[in-house]
Amino acid sequence: MVADPSGALYVVATPIGHLDDITRRALAVLGEVALIAAEDTRHTGRLLAHYGITTPMLALHEHNEREVLPRVLERLRSGADVALVSDAGTPLLSDPGFPLVRECRRRGVRVVPVPGPSALLAALSVSGLPTDRFCFEGFLPRKGVARRERLAALADMPATLVFYESAHRIRAALADLAEIFGGAREAVLARELTKLHETVLTGSLDTLAARVTRDAEQRLGEFVVLVSGAPPRDLVHPDLDRVLRVLLAELPVKQASGLAAGIVGVKRNLAYQRALALRAGDGADGPGG
Ligand code: SAM
Repeated sequence: MVADPSGALYVVATPIGHLDDITRRALAVLGEVALIAAEDTRHTGRLLAHYGITTPMLALHEHNEREVLPRVLERLRSGADVALVSDAGTPLLSDPGFPLVRECRRRGVRVVPVPGPSALLAALSVSGLPTDRFCFEGFLPRKGVARRERLAALADMPATLVFYESAHRIRAALADLAEIFGGAREAVLARELTKLHETVLTGSLDTLAARVTRDAEQRLGEFVVLVSGAPPRDLVHPDLDRVLRVLLAELPVKQASGLAAGIVGVKRNLAYQRALALRAGDGADGPGG
């Protein structure tokens, strides 16, 4: 039997800020492969120049990924080893590369991880929030309505929630999180990890939203937002969902939750969050909230 002559795809993690955060193995692989498929060749070019690596690069980003796929597959088929990198951290985590890895797996091409930094795990590891169960949600939708709907669907999740967020939307995202999860929920804002202005703020969602509104510096850079999981379901009154469902069939969310809170005897905010979650989970039937 002839040995498989095709090359391997190395999925290589690169720094999320500090240039020293790259493994010796990652540098060796980047220096030895025939081609590096990079999200932004100028960005990766600076990393390679810093380490004296001269391997040729090819741009593979979210807008051309499907187009360049056949070229990369052809190089692999002809026996060349290829490395996949993104601008920061681990490729495929809110970054390009999924179609390529998927296709390599489908064709039986060897896919080799070269693990290293990721903003998700760096933030989680220093957050002080439970790490035994966590749910990575990547970026929230940009538009307010879609973002709030997504959050309402996550409000009951008992695991620590992890989001990526940009400077443009951090304020709006925190305001929506506080409104939908309740301002008292414990959260962590990890900003500019491994960089000069690294800051990790902890507190309630209300505290963090107020801090970011007040302090313009805390709105600069790149963010990971972590929110503690929902309290166990048995803290929610057993009749609340039943009453809410009846009222939501006839009334907007605000009115239904206000009435339900009075009938069942729970806080209005709790009833409101529950109503949003039910509305998101049940589809958008009934009058608008
Ligand atoms: N693939 C990367 C990873 O493994 O972390 C993430 C790429 S994603 C396009 C970029 C987002 O990751 C940023 O908008 C921010 O939410 C987060 N991020 C990246 N670097 C970060 C850093 N140094 N500090 C905080 N968040 C960071």
